[in-house]
Amino acid sequence: MQHLIDRFISYVTIDTESDANSNTTPSTKKQLVLANKLADELKTIGMTEVTIDKNGYVMGTLPSNVKEKVPTIGFVSHYDTSPDFSGANVKPRVVKNYDGGDIVLNKKRNIVLSPSYFKDLLLYKGQTLIVTDGTTLLGADDKAGLTEIVSAMEYLIQNPHIKHGKIRVGFTPDEEIGRGADLFDVKKFGADWAYTMDGSQVGELEYENFNAAGAKITFKGKSVHPGYAKGKMINSMLIANDFINALPAGETPQETKGYEGFFHVVGLSGSIEESKVELIIRDHDMKKFEARKKLVHDIVKNINKKFAKQFGEDIATAEVKDQYYNMREKVVPVMHIVDLAEKAMKDLGIKPLIKPIRGGTDGCRLSYMGLPCPNIFAGGHNFHGKYEYVPVESIQKAVDVIVRIAELTATGFSKGSVKK
Ligand SMILES: [Zn+2]
Repeated sequence: MQHLIDRFISYVTIDTESDANSNTTPSTKKQLVLANKLADELKTIGMTEVTIDKNGYVMGTLPSNVKEKVPTIGFVSHYDTSPDFSGANVKPRVVKNYDGGDIVLNKKRNIVLSPSYFKDLLLYKGQTLIVTDGTTLLGADDKAGLTEIVSAMEYLIQNPHIKHGKIRVGFTPDEEIGRGADLFDVKKFGADWAYTMDGSQVGELEYENFNAAGAKITFKGKSVHPGYAKGKMINSMLIANDFINALPAGETPQETKGYEGFFHVVGLSGSIEESKVELIIRDHDMKKFEARKKLVHDIVKNINKKFAKQFGEDIATAEVKDQYYNMREKVVPVMHIVDLAEKAMKDLGIKPLIKPIRGGTDGCRLSYMGLPCPNIFAGGHNFHGKYEYVPVESIQKAVDVIVRIAELTATGFSKGSVKK
């Protein structure tokens, strides 16, 4: 397992924080340091067709070692880390044989990773954990994914008796700022389907995510001296407040789970003359998603009706934009790709945890770009913060899953153990 630890640490100690305020790709130049290292490493382990394009997308091929024609599969992960928390000067620490107690990340600042708060830790008693020093995130999201893909390819190259078809790997910048799929050349990648290695706990397998939209609603008002305001003043902030109150009660992120959708107010600003409400709309079900968007327009219509006489024109305007869609629609017609991953896990004694994502992934965008792409666990926990950690055993399990998926793609299809 030491080679997994060494590889992982060589990735997380390179700062690759992305930046939503930048218009370039990658959003930060420093991401290219790791991108170039990854391309070099793919060549070193013996991959072919290794390319890095001007936007920093890295691709490589492991050629098929079987005579029959079998599907080309892909594995994808992202090398940027979240701008939510510092990714500079990451000082990873290896905790061997974790005893199930508190882990002091930083004595001076009294930062403790404790199973009394993070109960998942107890799943990994006796294992080797990689943690932070309490001042940065770790970057297991998604450098655990990179480690797993590179190590699995290396393993397949070193063990040519394991049969596999053509395998493509792809490493992307800027996933954390929602742009990872933007410039991904699906045609050049040329896989029949792929998996992102970007989930959390061992066993996670996801092929359903939210349908997502963002809405901006602007309310106008009329400012008049408060002493002379009766019947004249319109306070746009109070109308914005009416709008928020007209959204269905209990349908917020903090009150929903599983397949329950929500409205989430993410921004609110105002003066008497003009106020703005920003919200995001999420639902797994396309019909319910459409109904949620319609409700926003309906509430706005009602407000406009109410103020039509007094204001003379529309007092409120809504701008609603779709952001991404549930990949389920694109994956269900090729459900064998999920079955295959599920079988790979079961073959390895890993219990598959199949659940809907309450968010989106690069894979959902890629699925709509013609590359069906479910998501598989990468092993880390507490992403985007100082409590992030990853058990090395989980990284190893993800490597095993990749290898097994590769093997099943070459053998399972012909033997019919996976239904097509
Ligand atoms: Zn990620």
